[in-house]
Amino acid sequence: MPDVEIPCVQCKETFVFSEKEQELFYQRNMMTPQRCAKCRSKKAVTRPDAPARFEIVCDHCGRHDTVPFQPKVGRSVLCKDCFEASRSRARQS
Ligand SMILES: [Zn+2]
Ligand SMILES: [Zn+2]
Repeated sequence: MPDVEIPCVQCKETFVFSEKEQELFYQRNMMTPQRCAKCRSKKAVTRPDAPARFEIVCDHCGRHDTVPFQPKVGRSVLCKDCFEASRSRARQS
């Protein structure tokens, strides 16, 4: 599938709906986007149900990071890097 140019319904500017994005959208059974990335992100920012970020201190490396969920008290929290590392370790074993 080649990249396609779509006129944004909001700002009327054309934006590129790339081959990669198209694949992603089709995999998720989503409709072709009608707004450019700029208008889409503006919409996302004003969304009241946008996920909040919670600040955490990584249990493993001590780095500050944010996570999209409320960390449970008494449970170890990992920064993104350590989380991914532990996940890939789990996958290997
Ligand atoms: Zn737009
Ligand atoms: Zn860490």
